[in-house]
Amino acid sequence: MADNETTKSNFIHNFIDEDLASGRYTEVYTRFPPEPNGYLHIGHAKSICLNFGTAQKYGGRCNLRYDDTNPVKEDTEYVDSIEEDIRWLGFKWDKQLWASGYFDKMYEAAISLIEQGKAFVCDLTADEIREYRGTLTEPGKESPYRNRSVEENLTLFQEMKEGKYKDGEKVLRAKIDMASPNINMRDPVIYRIAHATHHNTGDKWCIYPMYDFAHPIEDAIEGITHSICTLEFEDHRPLYDWVLNELGWWDPQPRQIEFARLNVTDTVMSKRFLKKMVDDGIVDGWDDPRMPTIAGLRRRGYTPESIRDFCERIGVAKANSTVDAALLDYCVREDLKSKVESRNVVFDPIKVVITNYPEDMTEEMEMENNREREDLGSRMVPFSRELLVDGEDFMEVPVKKYFRLFPGNEVRFKGAYFITCNEVIKNEDGSIKELHCTYDPETRSGSGFEGRKVKGTIHWVDAKTAVPVTVRDYKSLMMTDENGESVQRPDSVVTRTAYAEPLVKEAKPGERYQFFRHGYYIADSKLCTEDEKVFNRIVDLKSSFKIK
Ligand code: ATP
Ligand code: MG
Repeated sequence: MADNETTKSNFIHNFIDEDLASGRYTEVYTRFPPEPNGYLHIGHAKSICLNFGTAQKYGGRCNLRYDDTNPVKEDTEYVDSIEEDIRWLGFKWDKQLWASGYFDKMYEAAISLIEQGKAFVCDLTADEIREYRGTLTEPGKESPYRNRSVEENLTLFQEMKEGKYKDGEKVLRAKIDMASPNINMRDPVIYRIAHATHHNTGDKWCIYPMYDFAHPIEDAIEGITHSICTLEFEDHRPLYDWVLNELGWWDPQPRQIEFARLNVTDTVMSKRFLKKMVDDGIVDGWDDPRMPTIAGLRRRGYTPESIRDFCERIGVAKANSTVDAALLDYCVREDLKSKVESRNVVFDPIKVVITNYPEDMTEEMEMENNREREDLGSRMVPFSRELLVDGEDFMEVPVKKYFRLFPGNEVRFKGAYFITCNEVIKNEDGSIKELHCTYDPETRSGSGFEGRKVKGTIHWVDAKTAVPVTVRDYKSLMMTDENGESVQRPDSVVTRTAYAEPLVKEAKPGERYQFFRHGYYIADSKLCTEDEKVFNRIVDLKSSFKIK
């Protein structure tokens, strides 16, 4: 485990340290509570790293709990993807649970509040409730149904459960304080009627608990100690505590702690938005390599280590901010540079003919696989009279400080010989047909030649044996336009053909390489086959991004 993977301390851990020291809790138990209505995205990764990572740090446990208190159809595709993504990120849950498994207990809790005179059935419409709620500067007005007797409330709630009323006709509300400065405490709705089939409980229920009522109960039932959530819920914490205090069923009670949600530049992270991109066919599924979903990042080639490192580096804050997407690129580069093997791949090829090299000769040149990792060994790469070099490694009229190939210049062909460009042969239309060059046999790589130095080193592939590969370069799906609006980028994927050394024929889906001097690439998990090699660019080699 790298240094940066050992969980850094943060304000949440400080709270936990206090709670353990004071004896409020004797263990740490967290949960990750996704709603199974889409694939997880990089924001969820942050929450996963925090919840599972915190449990790990304290030798505690973390549950995976599906938040399925809304009666929508279950989509096993989403459930399967959530589990795959958490495992891929490197975490294990203690228990896998469904919030709907607690409906009986929640109903019991509602009855208990009614019996204590702490909840009432209200007949106001949704609009009226909103009207009565007041504003930040004005107190709310009490519902005319607020003073119903316990008996009447019990009967009405029972009838709500039995299906006697239509959706929206009645709700159950907590009786707290319509003058509270916190609007969430102004008699919030805790149960609503919804005649809908639930994937888990079928038609057993036609009343469903609201999130603010359900969540503390779910946490308490599981014995969660620290319920970590995003900042929007800070103002809901008094209600979270109210529910548990009024019930008084659990000791110790869980503690809700909020942190700022992750935002990333040019990245929209709402499942609803991402689902629309999928449904509208703007992307090629939830795992499109441009998607900020964990499945998309995985297919794009990001590693679990790089995502965990990213989440660790951004830390846990109490104030919302936006993280530069370039930080994630930095993390994956850091991770891959000492892991993957290098391959020679040429883009926009220019043919080079070594006029003084024997026609039928091929030499096998030894190339190291990773400069930082001798243990990754080396490979043999064929070299012969006709080669391909990168379009950007030749300039007919060189600019200042250009040390690569140009007429009259000598460069090192990496792992091979010093080669001098003598003549540019053109097609009829004036485009370059090939470069006529000569090599100096004395300068073979590894021969210890020290006669003279050259400034430029370029890579190459053997023309005869080169393998054409499809490479897909990506940019973010969204961008900020001149008016500061977030809009879709027209060129978020650019597909090109490149030419690779023969070994690339053996690349298997999911294998990552550095394409020498170009970037890190992964053989696409779906499109890369025996016959067609398709690579996704994970990230280029360098960026202007500077880590602070
Ligand atoms: P979305 O709006 O993208 O659908 P959500 O919050 O509705 O997100 P849930 O499935 O309810 O998605 O979230 C599961 C957990 O992940 C919650 O605890 C939530 O706070 C957390 N989470 C979601 N998005 C982020 C984010 N951008 N940064 C940090 N945590 C997040
Ligand atoms: Mg949600």
